[in-house]
Amino acid sequence: MTDPFCNAVDTGKTRFYSAKHFMVLYNIRPITAGHSLFVPVRHVERITELTDEEAKGLNRVMKEVIPVLIRFYGSEDNSYNLAVQSGPYSGRTIDHLHIHLIPRKPDDKYQKRGGLKVDISESLEDLGPEHVRAEVARLRKHFGYPGQKG
Ligand SMILES: [Zn+2]
Repeated sequence: MTDPFCNAVDTGKTRFYSAKHFMVLYNIRPITAGHSLFVPVRHVERITELTDEEAKGLNRVMKEVIPVLIRFYGSEDNSYNLAVQSGPYSGRTIDHLHIHLIPRKPDDKYQKRGGLKVDISESLEDLGPEHVRAEVARLRKHFGYPGQKG
């Protein structure tokens, strides 16, 4: 499996936020509207491999980006899932660390499965390439991308 997160051409297609240590990409196959990925600039496979500075950077990026994603795509009660697939038996398809942010709504199609029973490889919504293109453009405008944040 090639590593699209180390390839600037690949990440450039869906990146809407860029900071020194982390970028945020719109998932190319979102399972809910707003499904995005927090990806370290440096190639690491596990979240425990982040340096303290990178972990602080992740925290800063999440504090800025998550509230916007929830405001755009989530529900008033601030519901979302964060998910990391780490290691070969976790279902991961790309070794480069990426943290899924999945906005949740009271009427989303995963509710009938309850709680964390979300299959991050299976979209029940009708969210195709047009949706991804439109939302990447919308988020880039909001965050003033391109342009790197601290
Ligand atoms: Zn990589």
